[in-house]
Amino acid sequence: MIDVVVVGAGLAGLAAAEALVRDGAEVAVLEARDRVGGRVHDAALPDGGWVELGAQWVGTEHARVLGLARELGVATVAGHHRDGWAVEQRGGGLFRGRRPFDGARGEALQAAARLLADSAEAATRDPVAAAALRDATVASWTTAHVEDPLVRGFLHQALANEASADPGEVSAALLVDVLDGYLDGDGPLADVEAFRLRGGPQQLATGLAGRLPPGTLHLGQPVRAVRLRDGAVEVVSGDPARPDVTTAGAVVLAVPLSLVVRLHLDPPLPGPVDAALQRLPMASVVKAALVWERPVWREHDRSGLVVGDGEPWCTFVDSSPATDRPGAGVLTGFAVGAQARRLSGAGPDARRAALLAGVRRALGDAVADALGEPVGYVEGDWVGEEWTRGGYGPLVLPGTDPVALATLLREPWHDGRVVLASADLDEEWPSYMEGALRQGSAVVTRLAR
Ligand SMILES: Cc1cc2nc3c(=O)[nH]c(=O)nc-3n(C[C@H](O)[C@H](O)[C@H](O)COP(=O)(O)OP(=O)(O)OC[C@H]3O[C@@H](n4cnc5c(N)ncnc54)[C@H](O)[C@@H]3O)c2cc1C
Repeated sequence: MIDVVVVGAGLAGLAAAEALVRDGAEVAVLEARDRVGGRVHDAALPDGGWVELGAQWVGTEHARVLGLARELGVATVAGHHRDGWAVEQRGGGLFRGRRPFDGARGEALQAAARLLADSAEAATRDPVAAAALRDATVASWTTAHVEDPLVRGFLHQALANEASADPGEVSAALLVDVLDGYLDGDGPLADVEAFRLRGGPQQLATGLAGRLPPGTLHLGQPVRAVRLRDGAVEVVSGDPARPDVTTAGAVVLAVPLSLVVRLHLDPPLPGPVDAALQRLPMASVVKAALVWERPVWREHDRSGLVVGDGEPWCTFVDSSPATDRPGAGVLTGFAVGAQARRLSGAGPDARRAALLAGVRRALGDAVADALGEPVGYVEGDWVGEEWTRGGYGPLVLPGTDPVALATLLREPWHDGRVVLASADLDEEWPSYMEGALRQGSAVVTRLAR
């Protein structure tokens, strides 16, 4: 019998394993996929370029991520809008600089932001005000408070980008943080999307895995069942016809929260834990990239950053690696919410065709003709991925208090033998790589051993 089984080799599971090993534990990590990293997954381009199919940006305050990158010798490169944004907004022209919209429209956006900030402040003192904000959806809040359809569209788009969700799916309380990031004095998302990691963030996962003792990590081992027996935990994994059973003193479930309820747990989850997990369904995202020899749109004075208006691919970002070698012109598209679910069912050819058509609509015929046929296409269909099934993280449903749910779910259960570790439970950086590293290393103090 070993000390701890960690289920899942995303950043949270790997950080948990490293912390437990450091603490003297004998650990096995069982990972369903044939790779580490989970929602952090990069595709390699010819000549050393890379595309992030999952997590892409690192914030200035993401101390754990930046520290680990330094330890592993992974350099940072600037995020795409360090100097403010130049955004093509379909139907709304182009804005450049640090703030979307000028004049009356800019005022309307600021007024919406002020109203949200005031509501959030009132919510800290008054439970009725708190409920009003929490129970509204983003869509119902903007319908009630924002008249200009372009400003409303911008708010919905900001939400979509940040939460991989539709405005009717999530609580209006989310908009407060989202708008903070977009209207920050240093430019939209300047803090949280300050850096990329040269070569891609999956190196954080492969680096952590490489530091575990040999034989600790087992790939291709989907865990189906966890049984508590006589003071021990039996973890059943692999081929259901000929399952492997690993016996340990405790288990760390480092899988996406919405997948915990799909594990067969015996005894079952305590009622409040199951109920909390059911209130955290996954958001939805499909992310895909077209690759050209070079970022031709820049030669036409276009940023490549496009904020859409309900098109299947709602946002495009220039994700070209910081190199001018061939294969270095990369446009990444994001589809979220219902559009992501539709595209996930459509198949890769349809997704590629829709992305190419979206680029033409967004950047215009002149740029699209100059770009010509892409030399590559790569995608992350996170809705379709069996071991993620969703988006960046869970939806914040209207009427729920995500802080209270996460607080409950951070508590171990069954005498401290079962504990969750997930980016999505972090108080500071939920659904970020930083949150995954923080929550992973925290299991050392939560498990009874
Ligand atoms: C498209 C996209 C863009 C993102 N952009 C950013 C960004 O720019 N910056 C940022 O910081 N974050 C971003 N994120 C979020 C970030 O990737 C996640 O918050 C973080 O990586 C989650 O880590 P985790 O270890 O908690 O979960 P995961 O990475 O989901 O790891 C869970 C692991 O468990 C495994 N698993 C699942 N079920 C089983 C099972 N039954 N048995 C065994 N193993 C199992 C999975 O295969 C996976 O490896 C993005 C995410 C996505 C999808």
